Amino acid sequence: MSVSPAVSEPAAKPLSAPQKALRKLGLARDIDLALHLPLRYEDETRIVKLRDARDGDTVQIEGEVTHQEITYRPRRQLLVSVHDGSDSCVLRFFNFYPSQQKQMAVGSRIRARGELRGGFAGLTMMHPTVRAAGGGLPRALTPVYPTVAQLPQPYLRKVVLAGLAQADLGETVPEQMLNDIGIQPLWSLRDALLFLHQPTPDVALAQLEDRSHPAWQRLKAEELLAQQLSQLQARGARAHLRAPVLVPARGGLVDQLLAALPFALTGAQRRVGEEIAGDLGRAQPMHRLLQGDVGSGKTVVAALAACTTIDAGWQCALMAPTEILAEQHFAKLVEWLEPLLAPRGQRVAWLTGSQKKKARAEMLAAIESGEAALVVGTHAVIQAQVRFARLGLAIIDEQHRFGVAQRLALRQKMADSDVGAGLPAMGADGGGTAVSRASPLPQEATGAGPVPPPAIEPHLLMMSATPIPRTLAMSYYADLDVSTIDELPPGRTPVVTKLVAAHRRAEVIERIRAQIAQGRQVYWVCPLIEESEALDLRNATETHAELGAALPGAAIGLLHSRMPVADKKAVMGAFTAGQMAVLVSTTVIEVGVDVPNASLMVIEHAERFGLSQLHQLRGRVGRGAAASACVLLYEAPEGGRLGETARARLKAMAETNDGFEIARRDLEIRGPGEFLGARQSGAALLRFADLAEDARLLDWARRAAPRLLARHPGLAKKHVARWLGGRVDYLGA
Ligand code: ADP
Ligand code: MG
Repeated sequence: MSVSPAVSEPAAKPLSAPQKALRKLGLARDIDLALHLPLRYEDETRIVKLRDARDGDTVQIEGEVTHQEITYRPRRQLLVSVHDGSDSCVLRFFNFYPSQQKQMAVGSRIRARGELRGGFAGLTMMHPTVRAAGGGLPRALTPVYPTVAQLPQPYLRKVVLAGLAQADLGETVPEQMLNDIGIQPLWSLRDALLFLHQPTPDVALAQLEDRSHPAWQRLKAEELLAQQLSQLQARGARAHLRAPVLVPARGGLVDQLLAALPFALTGAQRRVGEEIAGDLGRAQPMHRLLQGDVGSGKTVVAALAACTTIDAGWQCALMAPTEILAEQHFAKLVEWLEPLLAPRGQRVAWLTGSQKKKARAEMLAAIESGEAALVVGTHAVIQAQVRFARLGLAIIDEQHRFGVAQRLALRQKMADSDVGAGLPAMGADGGGTAVSRASPLPQEATGAGPVPPPAIEPHLLMMSATPIPRTLAMSYYADLDVSTIDELPPGRTPVVTKLVAAHRRAEVIERIRAQIAQGRQVYWVCPLIEESEALDLRNATETHAELGAALPGAAIGLLHSRMPVADKKAVMGAFTAGQMAVLVSTTVIEVGVDVPNASLMVIEHAERFGLSQLHQLRGRVGRGAAASACVLLYEAPEGGRLGETARARLKAMAETNDGFEIARRDLEIRGPGEFLGARQSGAALLRFADLAEDARLLDWARRAAPRLLARHPGLAKKHVARWLGGRVDYLGA
């Protein structure tokens, strides 16, 4: 396919403002313009009689001006009365020029277009578009495109039509597959586009605007197919990569850890463990998301995967988004694994940004020598100086908290020579059989010269407590394999959630007193104040003092993000050890903290938190057998009511403990763009299709994509290029 740029000109000439705006909208190629579809339409094809129009209709009328005046009450305005033979209507202008007054002089015939309002004083139109009466009427509806300020509609209409005329609109999907969509009647891509840009007026506008029209269906199906194809391509690209084959030794670390654990795995943990083990045993890199609600026990599953990796003679890295969380993992994994690793001369290493130079250098050396079989840390783990002897598995906890940039950095890290360098050594000392079993890359006939060795990547396991709703899993995350822990460890009592207005704070403090009396522990989370970290801190400090005064004799700790790491550790350590009754904190405890004796979570200004954040916080309690509660303190803004989304969030929290349901509602409240967050920055969200409404088309796309890719790889490539242009890379991140 040859695509000529829509706006082509000599390099020296600077772009005009509208041309720049086109670029900003991502409209670089003819096909981009052709696929830039109208938001809505205006019907200028008809003249309507006032008698037939209804209040609220946007209509075009033609008639004679019968009166004109400027009034000053309530403010200066121009009033023009028009009679069209059936009724009369007053046109009202707050801004106007002498030329307009002249155009609308009494006795002249005009054509006016605007929204009609019926009222006490008769029909009116506010700021209609006016031109002289007569002249031809357009035959098609007038498209209104999504645009930006620097790009006026008439200009955009012109370039879109030009792009449409130039673009290659040849079909990329064989007719038989198209028939499977079940759209009646089936439109060709060309016809669908021509129609949507300039629909004939006889079509039901409603069908166009709610996008249920067959032409829209056709385009939405195309878009969803492109998305599925790009994900399949990402998957396919991975199939050409090699990864070490990791199989646990009989009686090795996996068995030893299982024997040493103080609990038996749940059925769900065993199942996902097997899914992961299956992947690790293959010579292609795993790309799997392990999702499970807060407290479902993902850490031990990760530890078992680490054991398999170490058993097979490779290293494992575990990365967490915050230092506190990484610290908790480290403590737990040291407790579980060090006794097993020590006899083998191996250890667990710890890497973080705040580490002392000497400690860090020591860790780096242990990682490079391979002595550190498991490396736990923050994203310090993927920094340039870190050289793994042979990284076999990378685990990312709370993966949704990492941005795209960090995930790309990790993939880069995994693909670069540090890892590959480990391979020959591994092959030589028999640490595994990856090299011989790996499938060779198809070799390209590039003439003479050495064929580059296939890229080697470690396996990748991502973990998240924010489950991806099904529709998103099938679309944006279709390139991921997903394992789900859908069962909590036994003996947990569900957390009771209470919404409490802020003026009842004293009652909440009484409740804390009662919990402490029973030897329980309590979290109090202070609100995040976006604009000011200092305010944030003051709030937490004041609450800390307030609780100290109200609960004399109780040990009350304070944790906030500005504290030196050593202090944070000391506070967290004391709370974990049960030496502290109440922990007042800013949101630093958000993820992963595990203190089973904590039974009450108080969240102040809960209305300021996001839904998944609230759910995560609530997940910090209810980890032991004691009945636990979560109190959401809320406060409406001064004199007002809570906003609608804040109310929807709190309601969802009170109604359900189910992480999947929470995620589904979060998606509903926020929409996929925000839900996906950083993942989608730079990547195209679906423009036309709606995951909830177009489930049937999504199903079709999921079935059609692998067939198209297998039978017509050239067409598949063309299809993705057409729809996603240069953005494909990012989608796989
Ligand atoms: P999350 O999935 O939120 O990361 P964790 O891995 O932190 O959950 O596990 C939560 C708690 O449950 C931990 O204290 C962990 O040791 C415990 N746990 C995990 N699996 C089981 C199990 N099968 N039986 C009992 N307790 C378990
Ligand atoms: Mg966790």
